[in-house]
Amino acid sequence: MFSDLVTRSDLKVFLPPIGSITVYIFGDPAAVADEHHHLSCRVHDECNGSDVFGSDICTCRPYLIHGIEECIRSAQENGVGVIVYNRKEGRALGEVTKFLAYNARKRQEGGDSAENHFERTECIAGVQDVRFQNLMPDSLHWLGIRRIDRFVSMSNIKFDSLVKQGIEIVNRIALPDDRIPEDARVEMDAKIAAGYFSEDRPMSESNLSQPQGRLLEDYWSSAVPASCLKISLAPRR
Ligand SMILES: [Zn+2]
Repeated sequence: MFSDLVTRSDLKVFLPPIGSITVYIFGDPAAVADEHHHLSCRVHDECNGSDVFGSDICTCRPYLIHGIEECIRSAQENGVGVIVYNRKEGRALGEVTKFLAYNARKRQEGGDSAENHFERTECIAGVQDVRFQNLMPDSLHWLGIRRIDRFVSMSNIKFDSLVKQGIEIVNRIALPDDRIPEDARVEMDAKIAAGYFSEDRPMSESNLSQPQGRLLEDYWSSAVPASCLKISLAPRR
């Protein structure tokens, strides 16, 4: 069933040929399904722009880092940590669609705001989100996980999906406020208003018009250092 790579007896690693999912385990893999060990877990959906290139328009990278830190902390306390990295770029709409939605948000009259955050994506893609989270728990079931002590995610859809499929979640860990990039408050406030878990930042439809993202013209006046505009590459010798 599996290729030679995953059945080699000299490698103490299991690499099932399941595209689009990578599971990173911090601590003893045997402890993942052992309910005597404390488990931290983040189920992260890919965001190349933030995860890799450090864009500050969303919270993906800081939340992934926070999840990794929580996993390491659990492992150091004789527990275990699990990061499930799902290739669901741009709410599974893809990177190009995501950047088109970003452009629409930044170029709309009045600038980017939480009030119509999801509608801008729908204008471009026809839908707001095509991630299908009902199958998301499968990788955790496969690992034998029945309880997550610290679930590092604010997504109500992921939470509901896990709980409905029999995985107990003891604590939900929100992204600390000081880790939210200023420009990402638009997205965060829109998500909280739409039902995302939040410990202390209740949002309602009425105050969604207040969060304001960085204006398009500000990118050239502040976000891009003047020196960057003057860079010229010396010819190769
Ligand atoms: Zn992102």
